[in-house]
Amino acid sequence: MLEKEYDGSWDKIKRVLGGKGAGLAKMYSLGIPVPPGYTITTAGCNKFIALGNVFPPGMEEQCLSALKRVEELTGKVLGGTERPLLVACRSGAYMSMPGMMDTVLNIGLNDVTAQAMIKLTGDARFVYDSYRRLVQGFGTIVLNIPDEAFEEPLDEYMKEHKYAYDNELKAEDWIRITDIFKGVIKSQTGSDFPQDPYKQVELSTKAVFLSWNNKRAFDYRNVEGIPHDLGTAVNIVAMIFGNMGDEDSGTGVAFTRNPSTGNKEIYGEFLFNAQGEDVVAGIRNTLPLQALKDKLPQCFDQFIENSKRLEDYFKDMQDIEFTIEKGKLYFLQTRNAKRTGLAKIKTSVTFCKEGLIDKMTAIERVTPKDVDSLLHPMFNDSELEKAIKTGKLFAEGVNASPGAAVGRIFFDADKCKEMADQGMPVIMVRRFTKPDDVHGMIASKGLFTAEGGATSHAAVVARQFGIPCIVGASEIQIDMKNLTVKSRGILLKEGDWCSVDGTTGKIYAAKIPTKEPSLDDQKELLELLDWCDELREIEGVRENPNGPTRGLQVWANSDKADDALKARSFGAKGIGLCRTEHMFLGARSEILARFIIADEEEVKTKALNELQALQTSDFEEIFTAMTELPVIIRLLDPPLHEFLEDLVSLTEKVATSRALKIDDEKNEIMLSHVKKLHESNPMMGLRGVRLLIVKRELVKMQVSAIFNGACNAKGKGFVPIPEIMIPLVSHKGELDSLQPEIEELAAVILKERGVEMEYKFGTMLEIPRACVVSGNLAKSAQFFSFGTNDLTQMTFGFSRDDAESGFLLKYINDGILPENPFKTIDQEGVGSLMKMAVKSGREERPMMDIGICGEHGGEPKSVEFCSSIGLTYVSCSPFRVPIARLSATHAIIPLLRKMKKN
Ligand code: ADP
Ligand code: MG
Ligand code: MG
Repeated sequence: MLEKEYDGSWDKIKRVLGGKGAGLAKMYSLGIPVPPGYTITTAGCNKFIALGNVFPPGMEEQCLSALKRVEELTGKVLGGTERPLLVACRSGAYMSMPGMMDTVLNIGLNDVTAQAMIKLTGDARFVYDSYRRLVQGFGTIVLNIPDEAFEEPLDEYMKEHKYAYDNELKAEDWIRITDIFKGVIKSQTGSDFPQDPYKQVELSTKAVFLSWNNKRAFDYRNVEGIPHDLGTAVNIVAMIFGNMGDEDSGTGVAFTRNPSTGNKEIYGEFLFNAQGEDVVAGIRNTLPLQALKDKLPQCFDQFIENSKRLEDYFKDMQDIEFTIEKGKLYFLQTRNAKRTGLAKIKTSVTFCKEGLIDKMTAIERVTPKDVDSLLHPMFNDSELEKAIKTGKLFAEGVNASPGAAVGRIFFDADKCKEMADQGMPVIMVRRFTKPDDVHGMIASKGLFTAEGGATSHAAVVARQFGIPCIVGASEIQIDMKNLTVKSRGILLKEGDWCSVDGTTGKIYAAKIPTKEPSLDDQKELLELLDWCDELREIEGVRENPNGPTRGLQVWANSDKADDALKARSFGAKGIGLCRTEHMFLGARSEILARFIIADEEEVKTKALNELQALQTSDFEEIFTAMTELPVIIRLLDPPLHEFLEDLVSLTEKVATSRALKIDDEKNEIMLSHVKKLHESNPMMGLRGVRLLIVKRELVKMQVSAIFNGACNAKGKGFVPIPEIMIPLVSHKGELDSLQPEIEELAAVILKERGVEMEYKFGTMLEIPRACVVSGNLAKSAQFFSFGTNDLTQMTFGFSRDDAESGFLLKYINDGILPENPFKTIDQEGVGSLMKMAVKSGREERPMMDIGICGEHGGEPKSVEFCSSIGLTYVSCSPFRVPIARLSATHAIIPLLRKMKKN
């Protein structure tokens, strides 16, 4: 019963009563007006399913006595002929799954109680409007009759009688329609609509239990990672009638803050003379809450006051359903609101500043996905202007979920999914969306609808999944027969390009280029990330023998000064990987090629000098950008043939020339070199440290460039901190073969230039053997960096390209591997090697810097793992730095909380 508050933590209460039941109970105990009712627990649902869809012993008796109590509280009687009680039978699971399960309204109406209700209210229109809703709801939800079986005859009726909107229909219309709907049930099932109210309650309860396992609920749980064994509670709640007239009755939905931007403003929609899903279904144009304020100011004030109470109690933004019956306000549901990533970040920061939650809680509420959603591309301003000037503005609607999306339009959820699976960027176009469309929506880059408001299904789902979305673009005309959409004189066909700006609500009939995001305007995110860094700087947040006891640092991988600057602006505290080979690409690969194929020393030296000059200035720029922060430079890693033309195309060229008897000396010579360098397994061939040992001139050239570049930067007043990293080492002998030479050269250059500079010499750990002998390697190497891409390849014995195009997907689909080890670190295998390497490395050299520079360094789960094994930093691509800063902080919050308690 709602009178008693279940005793336990809020989370436990929700597990037992479901979110809706727990929310109703809590509202009751806070003194907020809710209708009387009772909740059948999730355990009851699970038992019911386990018994083969049978009520467990005792449930019926308990329900009957609870129902008696509701009758007492309302002074009404189920099936009563004087004051009949009508109830709603509502689903409600532990985690909110909006619109995924079912609810039946107006239970208790039959031919007799309908007459009693008319006598009581004098309003036959209202009674039969309710009755037809019950017959339809019961028909679709309990008897599984398709919606159209009811919608089509209703549409037909309205057309025939020239009605545009449902609120124009009169009593005699709804009486007729109730009869038609009863006929639908009879013809579809062979039986009559059950007149016994108790039977109605029983069958509805069973149907709601069963809706836990309907397909769309099942699919939704898979997408959201919600366990399938939680079950749903059932709430039997006395009906409140928002459909008792145009003046003082109605129903609404509201968010306590703007769910799109997170701004502090109540945000909602209201419909007079309406019930249930009318607002979200978009049957009529909804009104802003202002309309309620104008017409029923007392209700509005009461609503605001109680919303504020709910927000203060839950310390979070609420999503509220309410109904007004003849000027009396009732709350029907409250829950923590789903919102965009932007809104999540903004509300978390604001709630913290308002003193409702602490920094840790604010940080915990924000997920990596939320941060990621702000790092998506935006439309390029000048291109946007161009599109507008050339008349490509197609339509405008409600900006329901922000972001820029470009893709080809499709009109059907299955088709959207199908095209997206083939790698096509898709924009979904619908009149409105329903839960059955969710799979297509998630697969799309963006979507727009002709109908519905800011709290419609499309808007809610899009915000939840971070999909740019515009709803209620009422000027567009969708033609589902010919698969076209028309607006402002432009006709778009299926497959045509279009651009959706969910931030402004504008749709363009053009493929507008996007640009990289910037964090400059993201005040709240920057603030939150600063809090993250602050917390990680606290001494003792990690228990880490021989290693740092502060949190992880976040560095970035970057090869160019402008990337480095971007990384720095995103909060990177160093460069964890500067890949020198990226400095040999483009026009410069020709210079390297000259070095590779030259026979004469002179030619070789000349090529190297050219490269050295170029690299020196590259390094100078990077050290300048990263002044006062460490920059780890990896010496040349890939096999040399990667810088030459590939064997197959060269062989073809030479073969053609020979056949045509053309003299092609250049390609003939090149081919002989490429053949010489060809390896049967280049991944394990002459690359990394092996290449450096064989081609020492390359080491000399690069080390000279690094130190000269650093000296240049220092000369201009910057503070370079170079660290030289040797890739692909498996044996200490390899390090010892290079180290003296490098140190000697560095000493010579520094002396020559008259500069004093600290630098480090270290190695990557990317071969299992290196992890095993890391204690020994640490005698020479001053730092380690895990190259987890290669380490994963070598540990599994998978070559990444072959695995991902070959068998890996099957492995994951069949559950042979739990996850793609190239996406998230395989903690059991690769992770064990890492742990071992950290331990022996730091036993030899306490406090040595150990980091990770593989792609895993920006993946949230891997970041948390890296924190747990005591790494110094994670290094990832600049755009992932904000995500890593958040995840690295999530990793230490449990310990922080423990510290705070003591
Ligand atoms: P959902 O989980 O899909 O939101 P609900 O159980 O909240 O389902 O109900 C569906 C619709 O019916 C909502 O619009 C809700 O406000 C309305 N509703 C639910 N219970 C009642 C009630 N007792 N009186 C009036 N309207 C109700
Ligand atoms: Mg609801
Ligand atoms: Mg590598």
